[in-house]
Amino acid sequence: MTHSSAKIYPWGDGRRFNSYSAHIRNIFGQRVQKVSIDAGFTCPNRDGSKGTGGCTYCNNDAFNPSYCTPQKSISVQIAEGVTFHQTRYRRAMGYLAYFQAYSNTYADVSQLEKMYSEALAYPGVLGLVVGTRPDCINDDIIALIKKLSEKYYVIVEYGVESCNNETLQRINRGHTYEDSVAAIQKTAEAGIFTGAHFIFGLPGESREDMIGSAGIISSLPLTSVKFHQLQIIRGTAMEKEFNQYPERFVMFSFDEYMEFFIDFLEQFNPGIIVERFTGEAPPKLVIAPGWGRKRTDEIMNIFEKRLEERNTWQGRLYGTVNKITAEGA
Ligand code: SF4
Repeated sequence: MTHSSAKIYPWGDGRRFNSYSAHIRNIFGQRVQKVSIDAGFTCPNRDGSKGTGGCTYCNNDAFNPSYCTPQKSISVQIAEGVTFHQTRYRRAMGYLAYFQAYSNTYADVSQLEKMYSEALAYPGVLGLVVGTRPDCINDDIIALIKKLSEKYYVIVEYGVESCNNETLQRINRGHTYEDSVAAIQKTAEAGIFTGAHFIFGLPGESREDMIGSAGIISSLPLTSVKFHQLQIIRGTAMEKEFNQYPERFVMFSFDEYMEFFIDFLEQFNPGIIVERFTGEAPPKLVIAPGWGRKRTDEIMNIFEKRLEERNTWQGRLYGTVNKITAEGA
């Protein structure tokens, strides 16, 4: 077995995957902490412009830290977030304001400019992370973000979730894969860091379908990706579907998921940063899978140990497996 420290991988360090922490270190030369904000946006898939039910797996409460609430101003939320993190991560020297809840480009551009500027004006905030849907972007918003990107670190993260339109329809996403490709291309072409989010285990998708998507996602002009295992969240439409038709779901055990994700990663573009590969909804809200309470650093240790034991790394098989294109996806 080759020891990881003996080799430097294409992304410039000895870790076996293209890590987000290295990306942040390269840009800022220091540890930077994200501070989540709920700026009171809604989502076109909830307010009636696209739909009212939302995505079948969605319960936004599951992903929102307790200090976030739109009743508080952006500055107050950042102040509270900074205090919250200072007690846990003393080494953080700067912050990224993470517009996380719902669709954070779903407003008039002048309103967006006000909100983003308020966050950037807060002492120690070095940039923005803006989570949104691919159908909530337009040329004016791109121009605003491009302007901010010239001075600050800004990344736009799109919820893509699946490359398969049948799946997207089934989970009531209210947009197509082609919408995601168009938004990602438009953002990347403007020179803005561009991220995407995907879920593994959506109903109707087999393990092979998910592995097959490595080639499709690899071909997108992405800076970074976040993956997570499907978690069935209490109170969602998907909870009902899962209880009624469990056979529609590939529910990975923790060990199965690690092996699956490493198989995926071997075929994945080594040039795209992998920011995360598991999800972390509060355990009391998760119906399945039952992974127990695992800390992020514990998961990371197991993952990197398995990469070493398998003597593999991100992109080891990239381009060697039959290329799957987005056509017909
Ligand atoms: S787009 Fe996001 S916020 Fe809107 S319903 Fe879907 S998961 Fe929930």
